[in-house]
Amino acid sequence: MKIAILPGDGIGPEIVAEAVRVLRALELPLEMETAPVGGAAYEAHGHPLPESTLKLAQAADAVLFGAVGDWKYDKLERHLRPEQAILGLRKHLGLFANLRPAICYPQLTHASSLKPELVAGLDILIVRELTGDIYFGQPRGRRTAPDGAFAGAPEAFDTMRYSRPEIERIAHVAFQAARKRAKKVTSVDKANVLETFQFWKDVVTEVHAQYPDVQLEHMYVDNAAMQLVKAPKAFDVIVTGNMFGDILSDEAAMLTGSIGMLPSASLDANNKGLYEPSHGSAPDIAGKGVANPLATILSAAMMLRYSLAQPEAADRIERAVQAVLAAGLRTGDIWSEGTTRVGTREMGDAVVAAITGKTITKS
Ligand code: NAD
Repeated sequence: MKIAILPGDGIGPEIVAEAVRVLRALELPLEMETAPVGGAAYEAHGHPLPESTLKLAQAADAVLFGAVGDWKYDKLERHLRPEQAILGLRKHLGLFANLRPAICYPQLTHASSLKPELVAGLDILIVRELTGDIYFGQPRGRRTAPDGAFAGAPEAFDTMRYSRPEIERIAHVAFQAARKRAKKVTSVDKANVLETFQFWKDVVTEVHAQYPDVQLEHMYVDNAAMQLVKAPKAFDVIVTGNMFGDILSDEAAMLTGSIGMLPSASLDANNKGLYEPSHGSAPDIAGKGVANPLATILSAAMMLRYSLAQPEAADRIERAVQAVLAAGLRTGDIWSEGTTRVGTREMGDAVVAAITGKTITKS
């Protein structure tokens, strides 16, 4: 099993190093090779996604990605900015399905801005379409408005569009994921206003006929945004388009209160994937040894489950993370009164110890 390790910028190298140590502790036949990406790759090779890095990612069974970006690159031309590396990898690897679990661990309910009873035990999965929708639809641009009340005025426009195969494949991902969970899919749309999302609703309903064991409900995106803060535990799997998914997955992440805990996966049609924490490169704390590595470690667990067919190994990592939380160890972002504050390395040490069966020591 070949894994491309792309640490990236900011806290990326620190948190990925811990995930790699955790993977090694499993003693599986994993071949791991590292390459620069993002700002680090721009510094070394003049491009955020050099040919050599892309080749490594293409040849691997899965990619473990840290984070990219730093404000110091904000003035670079768009195609050279670190974030372009993620878009390039998604495009070249055909990653169309973004899976973002939002799980609220019992020990961390206080970190949520919602009442503990609303989030305790929360476990939802957002499946976001990643390569279509208004973010990529053509035509787009600026022009002189050809008609309407403001004809003749400068205007900008984008195009929202989805084809049947694009909707079908993301719907299959959602229904199949639901089969491994509570067997309920909520398809989020804006079918009351948008033609694109009436079509989305129709196609998802058709695909559902192949999954009679899974319950399907449809919800408008404005209602879904409300329900996520009112009764989030009523959801199991949410499937939606690129733009609605972008917004709702960040809202769901915040329900757990701790972005440093949330993994994510982006999959192609054959379950090859890129795995990364949901947070960014956190330049404000980079190099200080205080970043929470658990989102990246849990991303490695998702990688074992979805791309490498090693569900037992994934369970071992997830159990180890729960044991470490139960033992009271916390990085600064999830620390609270009565728990023990640890750094990135110590958190990694504790997870490795929990996996190898050694005692977790508080330091
Ligand atoms: P961010 O997620 O990097 O940071 C937001 C806040 O959360 C910061 O205060 C940070 O210190 C904290 N934080 C994030 N991860 C943490 C962790 N593991 N442990 C403890 N605290 C953590 O978002 P931002 O500040 O908006 O963006 C910073 C840079 O990251 C930008 O250049 C942005 O473009 C980039 N970014 C990259 C990705 C990615 O690589 N996928 C995603 C989002 C943002």
